[in-house]
Amino acid sequence: MTFKDLEIIDPILKALEAKGYTHPTPIQEQSIPILLRGKDLLGCAQTGTGKTAAFAIPIIQQMAIDPRREQSKGNIKALIVTPTRELAIQIGDNFKQYGQHTGLRGTVIFGGVSQHKQTSALRRGIDILVATPGRLLDLIDQGYISLGKIEYFVLDEADHMLDMGFIHPIKKIIAMLPEKRQSLFFSATMPPSIVNLTKKILVNPEKVTIKPEQATAERVEQSIYFVTKKDKINLLTHIIKEKNVDSCLVFSRTKHGANKIVKLLDRNGIRGEAIHGNKSQVARQRALKNFKDGRTNVLVATDIAARGIDVADLELVVNYDLPNISETYVHRIGRTGRARASGVAISFCNAEERAYLRDIEKLISQKIPIVNDHPYVDDSPEAVPAKKKQGQRNQNNRSRNGNGQRRNKPQGNRQGNNKSRDQKQGERNSEPKEERQDRRNSQDRNTPKPQSKKSDRQKSKEQGQNKKRLDDKNKNKSKQNKSYGRRKREEEKKKNPFDRTRNSPRSDFPLL
Ligand code: AMP
Repeated sequence: MTFKDLEIIDPILKALEAKGYTHPTPIQEQSIPILLRGKDLLGCAQTGTGKTAAFAIPIIQQMAIDPRREQSKGNIKALIVTPTRELAIQIGDNFKQYGQHTGLRGTVIFGGVSQHKQTSALRRGIDILVATPGRLLDLIDQGYISLGKIEYFVLDEADHMLDMGFIHPIKKIIAMLPEKRQSLFFSATMPPSIVNLTKKILVNPEKVTIKPEQATAERVEQSIYFVTKKDKINLLTHIIKEKNVDSCLVFSRTKHGANKIVKLLDRNGIRGEAIHGNKSQVARQRALKNFKDGRTNVLVATDIAARGIDVADLELVVNYDLPNISETYVHRIGRTGRARASGVAISFCNAEERAYLRDIEKLISQKIPIVNDHPYVDDSPEAVPAKKKQGQRNQNNRSRNGNGQRRNKPQGNRQGNNKSRDQKQGERNSEPKEERQDRRNSQDRNTPKPQSKKSDRQKSKEQGQNKKRLDDKNKNKSKQNKSYGRRKREEEKKKNPFDRTRNSPRSDFPLL
């Protein structure tokens, strides 16, 4: 089957040819005909399967051949909502590439950056809008966007949206859409909360399911290196240098760990950059661009920051730390071996991570080959992870084994118990889960801090200063609490929680 067989129009075929796509991926083959018939679609698939083109191509095609196109010029007709800024940018790029010969116009909006460029693009008039939920609601509130003329609505990565506490913004957005529209809904997992949401969005949908785990795991050449925690950096350096690796994506469990890896690689003469939630949006985009353009050879990422990262010809994925959630392993190695390509992924496993390895092998139903001919082999016996950590892992496993929705179950409980706090988390940093993960897993937290060699006099002087600082802070705080302005702002926020005009420009979502 080729794209021509799917009755794709020439301007799009030309763009696909330029990208080197000849054959549709399974999700494209199944979804495109359904969508060209105007049906709603429920897609159970994740990034890496080619799902962006699966929805972008038919949307562009229907808009391009619409006889009412001239009359509706300047109205936003397609809205794609996606959880992270990186994904939004990527989807926007794909629309631009596939639609380049159709004359359709689109833009991408997301938080963490000034809104000026985005509002200018909106003022000029666009057909397709790709957005993250917080900035979308913000610009709707400010009057820059109206959803009244939307004909195509895509909710992408719905499970991640809910994980990030975006349920209320999503419901708010859906309520603003016209009844008559074509809706597409994509999620990698289908827990009950997602199924409920699909009922609010889709009418009589057709369902397409692409199981990525097995497919990804089979396509990617994987191996395991047993190595102590201390030797991991030497092993990474050894592999990059020995194999002459030009583009290597390294996964670290924590943000702090990611920074440390970059620093140590630099000492060993290897240029890399880190990408994680503590970096500004500009720094994240710059790091990604430097990596994609080949200016740096190594990108060290945490899981959520890496979500959706799509780098053509990625040579190697390295799991510097083995993830304690097995599905994360599949997501990670899926960064290489995209669509139909094959890829290489290696994993470092220290004595404490052996149990994680067993979980992963169970999930992918494969034994990952062990590499023994390297200079840092660790043949010590398996160590039991620290008690607290093991408890967490088991908890995760229990909920996964119970219903296959491990990652969402604890989330659901948490949301149920403390929704507003959860939302706030998502608002502050789009990465609450990663934050939590970091907090739980941070090895360094348990490492004793070096003892300071300060004299007793110095110590007591510092204590006095700290106490004074704390007293001043509390005084200021109580002053602020009583201030009229603050009370007023709080009242306004209660009335309109999405008014972020006074909030930090860094957040992708309202800070309550
Ligand atoms: P996605 O799941 O949309 O993130 O796509 C994963 C990767 O597959 C991206 O790098 C796409 O550019 C690529 N891709 C999508 N469709 C095709 C295709 N039909 N043939 C080859 N590569 C594709």
